[in-house]
Amino acid sequence: MIIKSADVVVTSPDRNFVTLRVVTDDGLTGLGDATLNGRELAVVAYLRDHVVPLLIGRDAHAVEDTWQFLYRGAYWRRGPVTMAAIAAVDVALWDLKAQAAGMPLYQLLGGASRTGLLAYGHASGRDIPEIFESVRRHLSEGFRAVRIQAGVPGLTAIYGIAANTTSPGNAGKRYDHEPAQRAALPAEEDWDTPSYLRHIPTVFEAVRAEFGPDLPLLHDAHHRLTPIQAARLGKALEPYDLFWLEDCTPAENPEALRLVRHHTTTPLAIGEVFNTVWDYQLIVREQLIDYVRSAVTHTGGITHLKRVLEFAAQYQIKSGMHGPTDISPVGMAAALHLGLAIHNFGIQEYMRHGPLTDTVFRQSFTFTDGLLHPGDRPGLGVTLDMEAAARFPYQAAYLPFNRLRDGTVHDW
Ligand SMILES: [Mg+2]
Repeated sequence: MIIKSADVVVTSPDRNFVTLRVVTDDGLTGLGDATLNGRELAVVAYLRDHVVPLLIGRDAHAVEDTWQFLYRGAYWRRGPVTMAAIAAVDVALWDLKAQAAGMPLYQLLGGASRTGLLAYGHASGRDIPEIFESVRRHLSEGFRAVRIQAGVPGLTAIYGIAANTTSPGNAGKRYDHEPAQRAALPAEEDWDTPSYLRHIPTVFEAVRAEFGPDLPLLHDAHHRLTPIQAARLGKALEPYDLFWLEDCTPAENPEALRLVRHHTTTPLAIGEVFNTVWDYQLIVREQLIDYVRSAVTHTGGITHLKRVLEFAAQYQIKSGMHGPTDISPVGMAAALHLGLAIHNFGIQEYMRHGPLTDTVFRQSFTFTDGLLHPGDRPGLGVTLDMEAAARFPYQAAYLPFNRLRDGTVHDW
């Protein structure tokens, strides 16, 4: 199974996606997701100019050797662009290997360890009635766990709240927490940590009272708090029994989690912006987290994220793979196969893609009674319709940024 050609497909149905397509001499096509939200074209150039020429003529079965060749061979290691590019190659090769074996990929990763993957959706609202309505809609769609993001009095634009987009071409359409808006410049949002810290516990008190003790509730602080602020929030949320508090402090400072951990028993999740096992060394060994948030797409593919999760398993830490809409259906399929196979699966984030995305990527995964399953087609179970993809050319889109009330740029 020799790699005959590879190309990078950029398409923008509902949002931008970057997909690596690897074709072998025996006619199989493997897919890998390389989407890096708001910086997509950097990964396109990395793949097209520096990786694709190295793949031609290689043995497509040599997954581990190709991973090490691309990682160590570049000399310049790690970082989101490099690791997304390597991930795309890795997932495409796993897809090819499983297609060649005539098996769904999870079988090659050890087989199914469970019947399906518990998924959580994104409930949100500017106020309590909107949040309740959003939770009820998610429950009616079958979700058995929800993330809760809330508006904060006095702030106008906040991460994670569904809104009517002002993005050209989609104006007025409701979007659920798709923060990257199509425009030449990023949107500016506002932030005030004291207002947020006062308000969020009242939201969880109301949600628990309304929906009872059994519903798993999650919350994302999106890297905006100092260690002592995060510790205070974790303590304040303890009565409401969160499934996790996510990204409570900036990811660059893993030691910050020591202080948070010493003060609260609220479970902690982090890692969507990490991209290697080395980012996890300290926080896993010291048992400072409970869930690994990395996505296959941004962590060097299945080969490398499996390594992270096996390391985490030794410390009773589980998976909570990143699954926003910027993880393409190809990246999502990879996550589902890996999640089904590993022992220490925790929960899977699941945001539905828009209807146009489903016309470009034909998928085999199912969402039944709150559980995701990757399906049983050989390989990843995703095909890319090239004609449909060509109808949606790339459109510039950026993640927003934050300013405090005095104009200071803050973590978004
Ligand atoms: Mg997050």
